[in-house]
Amino acid sequence: MRIDIISIFPEYFAPLDVSLIGKARERGILDVHLHQLRDWTHDVHHTVDDTPYGGGPGMVMKPDPWGEAIDDVLAADPAARPRIVVPTPSGVPFTQKLAMEYAAEPWLLFTPARYEGIDSRVMAEYGSRLRVDEVSIGDYVLAGGEVAVLVMVEAVGRLLPGVLGNARSVADDSFAPGAMENLLEGPVYTKPPRWREREVPEILLSGHHGKIARWRRDEALRRTAKNRPELLAALDPQSLDKHDRRLLEELGFPVSGENMAH
Ligand code: SAM
Repeated sequence: MRIDIISIFPEYFAPLDVSLIGKARERGILDVHLHQLRDWTHDVHHTVDDTPYGGGPGMVMKPDPWGEAIDDVLAADPAARPRIVVPTPSGVPFTQKLAMEYAAEPWLLFTPARYEGIDSRVMAEYGSRLRVDEVSIGDYVLAGGEVAVLVMVEAVGRLLPGVLGNARSVADDSFAPGAMENLLEGPVYTKPPRWREREVPEILLSGHHGKIARWRRDEALRRTAKNRPELLAALDPQSLDKHDRRLLEELGFPVSGENMAH
């Protein structure tokens, strides 16, 4: 996968040299291109921002440098088209589902902004001929989009074939489509079996795969009910067996749907 990132702080992306993503880059699975937006300015001060039309506090990023920068990045491979991802708190939520969608793209172009964001005509211009997504990583406001891009690149990068040692761990993750859709993963443990008088749940030492899987699912349902009860409403009733339904009822979340997994 090719990833281009245009930013006034390309140095912010040093973490992409580290760990799983760093290794994926070394192995050629991820091809990351960083660009300094100011390289596309033409004044001595390399200005990228100006006062907002309509007044108000803060500054807005000018359309010209962004337009020239994006045009040049697009020209790097005229036969292909990147999906453009614009981080903004006013965008659609970034979810595991969207991360999976992005992981299937051959090319992503991220445009992290500063100040009050990018002049909206830039998104309108490229949105008329390319896929442009305005995406938020959460209901809070960061000082700039660089951290949001790091979050998205890491979530997408670990889904690329060959990046994780064990591809199955993705399927067991919180939010993974399939059995974990709209569920949080339960607690995990490793050796030693006793630490500061605290025991690992006995079932995990039993070697009984069926019972362990059931216990893990119960814990996922419990944790989701406790930490993210709104997710339970989005569970597909067809994915719930009798045991799931009984537990959800005990937890105070009775399921009304008729269909049931066996
Ligand atoms: N005035 C903007 C608003 O209220 O929507 C906030 C601008 S913020 C200070 C500057 C930049 O940080 C944004 O343009 C975006 O690139 C990034 N940013 C801030 N919060 C974000 C979030 N939750 N998700 C994605 N990007 C975010």
